[in-house]
Amino acid sequence: MKFIRAKTILAKVKNAPDSWFGLSYNMNLYRGCQHQCIYCDSRSECYQIEDFSQIQVKENALDLLEIEIKKKKLKGTIGTGSMNDPYMPTEKKVRTTRKALEIINKYNFPVHILTKNSLVLRDIDLISEIAKTYAAVSFTITTANDKLGKIIEPGASLTSERFQAIKVLSDAGIYTGVLLMPILPFINDTKENITALIEMAKKAGAKYIIGWMGMTLRDKQRDYYYSKLDQHFPGIKEKYIARYTNQYNIAVPDGYKLQALFEAKCKEAGLSTKMDIFKEIKPEQLNLF
Ligand code: SF4
Repeated sequence: MKFIRAKTILAKVKNAPDSWFGLSYNMNLYRGCQHQCIYCDSRSECYQIEDFSQIQVKENALDLLEIEIKKKKLKGTIGTGSMNDPYMPTEKKVRTTRKALEIINKYNFPVHILTKNSLVLRDIDLISEIAKTYAAVSFTITTANDKLGKIIEPGASLTSERFQAIKVLSDAGIYTGVLLMPILPFINDTKENITALIEMAKKAGAKYIIGWMGMTLRDKQRDYYYSKLDQHFPGIKEKYIARYTNQYNIAVPDGYKLQALFEAKCKEAGLSTKMDIFKEIKPEQLNLF
């Protein structure tokens, strides 16, 4: 683990609040991620992270957050978990995410936590407080099979543990759901997997499930992913090369059919395929509630 200094911590999201996750600001407290998902986009060259497995903690992140949050002219949802997981194992010791939530709570900002780790349950007290403004916790879950999950997301909590965490959060009245993405061609793109995940989400008390039947691949991210395909799924890399060459957007074969199945099953289960999002407001408007 290495400590680094950041220049800023809250990045404004284009077209905020964005339609998928309702984010106005993005906050990355770490660089690199211990979950080591084989498909992770954060390995792409544009992010300039030389060694993605080397965890870097932004040592001045909390000071920056306190300064920047006070200056925001609009209260909008702060998202965390897009380029690294805020609850990766290191967080247990470092507690940067927890301290950031304390600041977010102090200034009554809304938050959307995206994670694959049940360590988020440690902060259920704070999240419940923030929920008086707005809080959502989304678990990215890609496979109903714990064994497959261990291969494609080796450092994250097992799928079964993530669903248990959804249950605990949901029972505590916290707005929680599933991000069913990415769907990897020839690996987790089966009707059985999609159907099972929707059933598990329903059972756990998820309020929404946002699905996307594909993935993205580029440069260093693709190289790493292909090396893992060779290691764990011999013969599949060749299928990707033949079908997708160097494409960035990778839609699974029969993606339309799978998307239709996803929507039909969610409807049947009474699960929304969209989140309720927090609309940006001026700080003084919050006092009215
Ligand atoms: S949890 Fe997210 S950021 Fe971390 S390795 Fe997996 S995909 Fe990448």
